[in-house]
Amino acid sequence: MSDFQAPVLPHIIAGQKHVGSSATQRINLNPGTGEPISSVPLDDVVAAEKAVQAAAAAFPGWANTPVGDRIQPLFKYKALLEAHVDELAEIIVQEHGKTTAEAIGSVRRGIDCIEHACGAPILMMGRSLPQIAVSSSFCRTEDEGGVGIDSSVDRLPIGVCVGITPFNFPMMVPLWMWPMAVACGNTFVLKPSERDPMSTVRAIELAHEAGFPDGVLNLVHGGPDVVNHLIKHDDVRAVSFVGSTAAGKYIYETGCAHDKRVQCMCGAKNFSIIMPDANCEAAIDGVFGSAFGNTGQRCLAGSVVVAVGDAADWLVSGLVEKAKGVNVGRGCDRNTHMGPLQDQAAQDRVIKYIEAGVESGADLLVDGRAFDMPKAGCFVGPTVFDNTTSDMSIVSEEIFGPVLSIMRAPTLDAAVAEVNKSDYGNMSVIFTDSGNAAHRFETTVQAGMLGINVGVPAPMAAFPFAGWKKSFYGDLHTNGEDGVRFFTKSRVTVRRWI
Ligand code: NAD
Repeated sequence: MSDFQAPVLPHIIAGQKHVGSSATQRINLNPGTGEPISSVPLDDVVAAEKAVQAAAAAFPGWANTPVGDRIQPLFKYKALLEAHVDELAEIIVQEHGKTTAEAIGSVRRGIDCIEHACGAPILMMGRSLPQIAVSSSFCRTEDEGGVGIDSSVDRLPIGVCVGITPFNFPMMVPLWMWPMAVACGNTFVLKPSERDPMSTVRAIELAHEAGFPDGVLNLVHGGPDVVNHLIKHDDVRAVSFVGSTAAGKYIYETGCAHDKRVQCMCGAKNFSIIMPDANCEAAIDGVFGSAFGNTGQRCLAGSVVVAVGDAADWLVSGLVEKAKGVNVGRGCDRNTHMGPLQDQAAQDRVIKYIEAGVESGADLLVDGRAFDMPKAGCFVGPTVFDNTTSDMSIVSEEIFGPVLSIMRAPTLDAAVAEVNKSDYGNMSVIFTDSGNAAHRFETTVQAGMLGINVGVPAPMAAFPFAGWKKSFYGDLHTNGEDGVRFFTKSRVTVRRWI
């Protein structure tokens, strides 16, 4: 380890970088090398208060700025992000561990959200219906040919909104939230993950370069103390959260108890079903990419695969062969297929799950602990278990790492029954050539996002993104029309001209 002192990351409040004071700092290490990379303030509640005050002060002016003017900085921001994709990806690789290709992909999916938010003039447009009624208490209307009641509904900004985001997509997930929120006329306080917020800080710096007025968009670092301050604050109207189910359930309940509108996109355990008639190559590639992409640290990771009937004959051998060919290494190395886990705690947790899988009697076909990997850093290779069952923790719990559990089922209905036993319902996937099987899957499986011959069914920003069951708390999902509704309130006006 070098003598390098990790820089303390600044908050960004009212357009200014602000190094506050925090009794506790989290030192983050580059997960590919073990070198210190950043120091993040964990309990600077004073900064959180300043951020909310800045956002509250900016709200009236921003809400009254015409929507066409509000989206101008977003157009510039999209161009700036495109010009800085490589720089942002490099930061993500250093602090998160993703491969360069994965990091670039995550920035591009974030840009999709900005493009969607640029449609705010259409997306937040209200509706009206003239002559919806004739007033019976006002006789002259009928005498004069039915001049009556017109009605319209408008969508209006709600105020200061807060975003609390996870470590696994530090650049992309905040873009699910704040571009649409500010395009709709709200002001925003973002609390990124304390584990890898460097790319988020850089992205918010670029947003200010794009021309957002001071106070419209603020970033404050922290852990639970800071989150609690934000979600209980009287001046905060809405909270959008993405992260684990435990934190999301708490934030949903606490935010609601403090009169906030809250949406929480939470943890997952996702199942892929493979039918015997599926295109073998597409199914193996799809399952493999879904389970091991981003080193399994993805809410859409398909970490359990259910082989129906004799699909297991080709699926298991195909997955094992592919897993054994994976180069595990630093994300910045060109020949790396799979990067490290994001930190030591994640590596320890994944190894514990592998041990639990072995103890529970599953067949360990590929052992991620036994790969040729760099010594320093948080590496675990792709791991494949066969003959797993729903009572094993490797099947029922979110591992958030590169561990794939294979189950067997005699029929599609039996496979769907296995999927529906899960506490989670973020996504589910089927690979099949049969429209009938796909339709039966679609109408019986319990999950909020479905893939048919698609391993990672991540909706583009024009469609909503969220799961069911313990994968989501709230009413309106993120992105799509739901995202616009979440960041606006409706107002109906009933008009009569005498
Ligand atoms: P996490 O819950 O540990 O942290 C997420 C955020 O919540 C962070 O900003 C963190 O500071 C804050 N937080 C954590 N514990 C808290 C507490 N007790 N009180 C207040 N705030 C708290 O999640 P993570 O480990 O960063 O991310 C991984 C999780 O996120 C996985 O479960 C994954 O499935 C989930 N995720 C879900 C989606 C989705 O769309 N459903 C997308 C990405 C990630």
